[in-house]
Amino acid sequence: MHEMSIALGILAAVEDAFRSTPGAKRVTRIRLRVGVLSLIDVEALRFALRVASRGTPAEDAEIEVEMAEPRFRCRVCGYEWKPSREETERLTGNPEISTLVHIDPDVLPRFLQCPRCGARDVEVVQGTGVMLHSVDIETGEDEERGVQL
Ligand SMILES: [Zn+2]
Repeated sequence: MHEMSIALGILAAVEDAFRSTPGAKRVTRIRLRVGVLSLIDVEALRFALRVASRGTPAEDAEIEVEMAEPRFRCRVCGYEWKPSREETERLTGNPEISTLVHIDPDVLPRFLQCPRCGARDVEVVQGTGVMLHSVDIETGEDEERGVQL
């Protein structure tokens, strides 16, 4: 299950934030941004985080997930666009492409082309992978600190 390795990566970053916060007692909230094109199973990711955080300061943290719509940018002409529903379906509906992108988001640009100038040098602004957006940590003074990442 790929979601488990993602969960472990997230928890490692959460733990880093926890360790670098003076007086940290526990993690109260973890906010994630999940790219629509990542085809991450959000419920499987939540489950993996729940299981993998047992016995860590993040054990009872609330997990908030926001979905990130895809955005691409052409490196040649600078055009930035949001893929149409048809293009999104082409990318997520093809099992070969979607499996590759699910495992390694960096391969996505291989399947993209600028709709304005036709260049194949396209950068993914957002829409793949899972990003740790912020972590809320309860400290000794009973206050919560948001750590932006
Ligand atoms: Zn272009």
